[in-house]
Amino acid sequence: MTTWPRHATWKGPIVMIGFGSIGRGTLPLLLRHLDLDRNKFTVIDPDDTNRKLVEQEGLAFIKEAVTRKNYKSLLKPLLTAGPGPAFIVNLSVDVDSRDIMRLARETGALYIDTVIEPWPGFYYNPKLDNAARTNYAMREETMKLKGELGPGPTAVSCCGANPGMVSWFVKQALLDIASALKIKVKEPATREEWARLMKRVGVKGIHIAERDTQRSKNPKPLNTFVNTWSVDGFISEGLQPAELGWGTNEKKLPPDGRKHKTGSGAAIYLTRPGADTRVRTWTPTAGPQYGFLVTHNEAISIADYFTVRDGRKVTYRPTCHYAYHPSNDAVLSLHEIFGRGGEHQPIKHILDENEIVDGIDELGVLLFGHKKNAYWYGSQLSIEETRKLAPYQNATGLQVTSAVLAGVIWAIENPNAGIVETDEMDFRRCLEIQRPYLGPVVGIYTDWTPLKNRGQLFAEDIDRRDAWQFKNVIVR
Ligand code: NAD
Repeated sequence: MTTWPRHATWKGPIVMIGFGSIGRGTLPLLLRHLDLDRNKFTVIDPDDTNRKLVEQEGLAFIKEAVTRKNYKSLLKPLLTAGPGPAFIVNLSVDVDSRDIMRLARETGALYIDTVIEPWPGFYYNPKLDNAARTNYAMREETMKLKGELGPGPTAVSCCGANPGMVSWFVKQALLDIASALKIKVKEPATREEWARLMKRVGVKGIHIAERDTQRSKNPKPLNTFVNTWSVDGFISEGLQPAELGWGTNEKKLPPDGRKHKTGSGAAIYLTRPGADTRVRTWTPTAGPQYGFLVTHNEAISIADYFTVRDGRKVTYRPTCHYAYHPSNDAVLSLHEIFGRGGEHQPIKHILDENEIVDGIDELGVLLFGHKKNAYWYGSQLSIEETRKLAPYQNATGLQVTSAVLAGVIWAIENPNAGIVETDEMDFRRCLEIQRPYLGPVVGIYTDWTPLKNRGQLFAEDIDRRDAWQFKNVIVR
């Protein structure tokens, strides 16, 4: 039997908002690794199907939706019950991250979430134009709030597997490539130093390259959206415009690409839904594969973090985007929903650890365009190993929940960091906490480029001089 380390002590209230697939998987990890007071732990969710998992641990369950109207009156008494500050773990959909961050600051609470989530009405609002429906817009608002609130109790923004853990992988992968290229470096200590190192290593871009091979024993029925994590979360981000961090190596904006008029300028969006936009990418198990260019916060935050400026002029930025091959059932589910003009299937189903027969979630970062071509660094966690490591989750879930655990511990160890993104956190400490839950973590070089086998049977409009242009990556 494994003896798990207690990483930290938290005696104040803990309020978990949302008890879906990620909340259920996170709870046992927090109970395992935190020395906490169970009498002070409350879980809130309007759906109480899994209430017994909370109550059997001696924790309180409140069956209620957190809304724009009630969030202050519902949460404040819990957050101020003492002793000491509270910790809010926001793992819900439809609960606005920024309003809860403001409340956290007002009450002195620490805070963590895994995405920037808006109140209902944002994702499917036809009155908002494409630019306003982007993650870029939501991140800009969050960065504005970071400036407004200034230093104070830590609020970790977007700390799951991706966004989250993959930002820590990028730093490790970059150091690995620098070492393989025999570039002598002292480990960077600031954002600027990290960005300069990436420029020096010659990275043109980064894919968050994922292949989920988890398979269910039950084939996907018609009219059901099947996924290995939140169906609501995946559909809403999948119907947002495709987005990518837009690097300095890119020669030309795509025909459907648009720049933002305000903000950091780190990303562009395409005037089409991300989950209906395919890109060419590579992961170790699949080799070359198609992935979906679904918008994700990390595509923007990583591109922004690794930007080099000379005064106000941007002299270097990597292109960065998600390239996601979800489980085969999810691919079929997307095919079905787009065939229906975006109308949601009536049944939404998240595959649990008992019905999955086999498979891994291979989730990593592919850093490309440097002298060693491309390097994938990531986790290859299987469903079998997941079952041995922690209850109530599949492999996808454990990659996320162990990142939440790492973020919670880091926040307790760094309680006065204000609003932070995972790019700004200590990647070594976070990966140290998370590592036991990631299965094999490997770094592999590949000679694949998006030009491989192209233009042989059909004429294609491709850039043969620079294999890594986005024009070659996107599937037209
Ligand atoms: P889920 O759909 O399984 O669960 C969401 C839960 O939120 C549900 O139980 C639902 O009842 C609850 N909820 C809905 N409205 C609520 C409200 N108003 N107040 C309180 N609870 C409410 O989703 P999940 O798979 O657990 O994912 C949770 C969140 O984590 C989503 O936002 C998702 O996008 C995000 N996520 C992030 C990552 C990452 O790697 N960063 C990965 C997976 C999921």
